[in-house]
Amino acid sequence: MFSLPQIPDDRKRKERDDAKYVGDTPVISVSEDNETLEPLPRFCYPGHDPELDKGELLYAVLEAARKYDMEEIAEKVSTQFVKYAEKYPFRLFALASSRCWTEEVKMAAKASLLYPVQTKYLEELDKVTVGDFFRLQDHHLRCSTAACSPIESPVGATYSLSLTWLDAHHWVWFTCPHTLSQQVRIGTGNLFASKWWVDGVRTMLNELRIRPRGATVTHPKIISGMALMAMDMCSCSDSIYEHLTSFTELFC
Ligand SMILES: [Zn+2]
Repeated sequence: MFSLPQIPDDRKRKERDDAKYVGDTPVISVSEDNETLEPLPRFCYPGHDPELDKGELLYAVLEAARKYDMEEIAEKVSTQFVKYAEKYPFRLFALASSRCWTEEVKMAAKASLLYPVQTKYLEELDKVTVGDFFRLQDHHLRCSTAACSPIESPVGATYSLSLTWLDAHHWVWFTCPHTLSQQVRIGTGNLFASKWWVDGVRTMLNELRIRPRGATVTHPKIISGMALMAMDMCSCSDSIYEHLTSFTELFC
């Protein structure tokens, strides 16, 4: 648009062409509204970039930046897209997939793993094809299966959990003598582990099935829930919290 040749001075008169004028300056009509265009030059000024705090605005500004080949601005807006996608992944997925924005679709799909599968109607979903919507659901399901597989025991197994990537090491749930124990499979074979830990890992597994992201495992609610169960039943409390934190980090 800005590369178009300027109208020669001798033609800069309302009576000579169809363009709108402000004084002697021709006005170029664009389809974007003021709210969408206003942030674009502000991204070029030194200092803080404008915060686009609404999904629709972010989408409109990104679309305008791409339309006018403002690559650096588009990149900056795309960075804000990630933050917003973590709050409203399904809305942003719908907007991005309606424009075939591959990178933003991937960001929104990844962010959607922080939430259960979307089953409620959202206005933005009208923009998504049925195929893309089911691809998103399928992605969630496959991530859920992949996230749970390092813990889940096979159907019919005699042990409660299967963590073949874990060694016996010094984990307190393998050495605690204070509570009932259950058999689990780890890298070196089957071992007995404290019931509080097995129950806690199962709770974690259920959460992970719904929200298959690392943040689910390291969430303080998960770790403190397991620690509270443990402290009710055993007196190895000195090392419980530290061991649970190391375990969840290792798993992620
Ligand atoms: Zn104990």
